[in-house]
Amino acid sequence: MNRKGNKQATTEWVANAIKDLVKWNPSITPKAVQNELEREYNLSLPYMKLWRSREKARDLIFGTVEDDFRWVPTLTKELVSKNPGSHICYEYDQADMSFKRYFVSFKVVIDGFFAGCRPFIGLDACHLKGKYLGMLMSAITLDGNNDLYPLAFAIVESESKSSWYWFIEQLIKALYGDVNEICFISDMEKGIEETIKMLLPMVEHRVCIRHLWKNLKKNFNNLSESFNSWISDVRDKPVVELIDTVRAMLMVQRTRRSNMTNDWVSNLVPVAEDYIRKITTTEEQFIIRPSSNTVAEVVNRNERQEVDLNQMECTCRVWQMIGLPCRHAAAFICTKEYQDWPRYVHDLFHVHRYCYKIINDFLFSCAYLSFLYITYSYYIFLDIVWLMEAQ
Ligand SMILES: [Zn+2]
Repeated sequence: MNRKGNKQATTEWVANAIKDLVKWNPSITPKAVQNELEREYNLSLPYMKLWRSREKARDLIFGTVEDDFRWVPTLTKELVSKNPGSHICYEYDQADMSFKRYFVSFKVVIDGFFAGCRPFIGLDACHLKGKYLGMLMSAITLDGNNDLYPLAFAIVESESKSSWYWFIEQLIKALYGDVNEICFISDMEKGIEETIKMLLPMVEHRVCIRHLWKNLKKNFNNLSESFNSWISDVRDKPVVELIDTVRAMLMVQRTRRSNMTNDWVSNLVPVAEDYIRKITTTEEQFIIRPSSNTVAEVVNRNERQEVDLNQMECTCRVWQMIGLPCRHAAAFICTKEYQDWPRYVHDLFHVHRYCYKIINDFLFSCAYLSFLYITYSYYIFLDIVWLMEAQ
């Protein structure tokens, strides 16, 4: 090892030497920095020196935390002017006027949510790894094709009742206050449930069911793609850079999904197509006893249901809940000579609802399930995840 070199290699010198490396990989480990120094300069440095050098290099590239916060008003102005109507805001600490919180939600995203996403919002938080060391809070839902649809995110100082209160308050503003039909779910513990009750006292059925939300994230959406894992690579960026990176990720995601629809040949979104394929190839046998062209008793050894094709209803209630024909309805439809499946699928699974054009700009929107209209317990809505899996 080059011992003499070790002493001469000041933190400043090392920071400059590894600047490019850190720029492309801000979360590079001190060990990886060591490997690089060894390869390039035959240098071996103590861990703490490597760590300090990496921090210094980050400062050189991204500026210090304080430098970064100076850009907050500029970033906000830019984001709002490029995305008119969006709810984007920040808050300073009243005591020392230091940066405290930042909330971002884009109007196109919110409009897309109302145009067709499922009427539930999952709330999540994860730790940031940059120097600010705050939390990233997020509000996400699923689109009609079961893909993750991030609605809003915020950087806050820590996870507490007060920060959740602030986040949910901003979220309600971003949603134009139109939240009566929305179910909020979360597996976070600190203060969410109380906050929701406090901010939305008029609304019943606000549930925070920890294990169900966890399950939902696991089952749907290739949900390894939860928002937190989605942004895991950028969690160590400074605040301003982080916000702008997430913005760019959202933009790219929207474009990718809008391009994706170009390959769709059916009238229905792929997830609905798959569902129908599965349900029509099941081994299950039913006896169909029609009482008219559109109404029938559907019977097997274990159950007897009544299906009404015109009303898109079955006494098992699954059709009404998920917006896709249940096993009984499917069995009845299969007896028909001409099977017009899209006719029996909720409008919001139709591709035309997924794609929504506004002022020549492709607004990504999405189909959703009809359980918006269910008035009884949201527990039933959550069961749909398994119903859909099981069907
Ligand atoms: Zn049924």
